[in-house]
Amino acid sequence: MRPLQMVDTKTQYHKIKAEVDAAVIGVMESSQFIGGKPVTDFANNLAAYNGSKHVIPCANGTDALQIAMMALGLQPGDEVITPSFTYIATVEVAALLRIKPVFVEVDKKTFCIDPVAIEKAITPKTKAIVPVHLYGHAANMDAIMKIAAKHNLFVIEDNAQAIGNNYTFSDGSVKKTGSIGHIGCTSFYPSKNLGAFGDGGAIFTDDDALAAKMRMIASHGQSKRYYHDVVGCNSRLDTMQAVILDIKLKHLDEYIAARRKAADYYDAAFAGNPKIETPFRAKDNSHVFHQYTLILHDLNRDALHQFLADKGIPSMIYYPVPAHRQKMFDEFGGSDYVLNDTDWLTERVISLPIHTELDEEQQAFIVSAVLEFAGR
Ligand SMILES: *Cc1c(COP(=O)(O)O)cnc(C)c1O
Repeated sequence: MRPLQMVDTKTQYHKIKAEVDAAVIGVMESSQFIGGKPVTDFANNLAAYNGSKHVIPCANGTDALQIAMMALGLQPGDEVITPSFTYIATVEVAALLRIKPVFVEVDKKTFCIDPVAIEKAITPKTKAIVPVHLYGHAANMDAIMKIAAKHNLFVIEDNAQAIGNNYTFSDGSVKKTGSIGHIGCTSFYPSKNLGAFGDGGAIFTDDDALAAKMRMIASHGQSKRYYHDVVGCNSRLDTMQAVILDIKLKHLDEYIAARRKAADYYDAAFAGNPKIETPFRAKDNSHVFHQYTLILHDLNRDALHQFLADKGIPSMIYYPVPAHRQKMFDEFGGSDYVLNDTDWLTERVISLPIHTELDEEQQAFIVSAVLEFAGR
């Protein structure tokens, strides 16, 4: 059996090695390492794939979120409503810009922001909602977009974990996550579903003016070289990463299918076990399984983590401390929040290995270890 890993980027690389190696050597031969046609080509292909009018490539997913908030003109003291049960980047960039993150509960089934909690948290200072498609499961965008329209708020989707996901609205229309809000943000961190061989990120929008502004901000506030109209930053996607991502983009749907197949295997193996709650599967199948995350009932989660580790099976706790309990947010009153569902999940979730290269022999081994611990 191949050794178990949370994500196996090496085996995935070997399947497309010839094409990737040739593309990387091509960049080295051209010696254009920043910008150029490969970056534009990738951005155009990604925009077409995602059904978005504009894609602005940038250095990483955290920058994407920061540039989005800057472009919307959010000011110190403004509020953005976000889940606390998320990766820190979502909320850190708000704090960095002195925008107040207002933490709300997630739905205990989907792990995504609870629309009812959003409406309760709206104040005259609220400017935006930042839903996160956590673990690859789409947030309830139907409800979120209605709330945003009613209260005149912006929506920035954190699509770092869900690129390629299809979300079905109540009227039957289908859109890719990241193309639904006013702005979508994603990350090409190597372990993400569309992973680079280093850092990378992208911003999606259909709004021409916002796109132009975000391009400027990502490039030191300039649209004409050496004329700096607004305060920006330096956030670029390397040419080398762009050529690799362009190759991997062609495989993204097949990568998602492989993750779903692995999820189906786990689902079937754990079905009916009262101690193991498998991920919620929405009717529209809007889950791309960036993570396969269980909720444990009446089981010692940390003991299971150790039990698996002793057998050479990695597992992860995403995330051991919710954002509102991070020291970083003390000054924003983080510790004043009462988010019982978020705390409840934080104590019970555990993520098992899931990736495009996981085979049934590996999964059978993982499943039998989990069931040995939990009881059948
Ligand atoms: C990975 C991730 C980010 C940040 O992406 P980086 O490229 O690492 O900066 C933001 N939000 C979520 C939910 C993520 O998973």
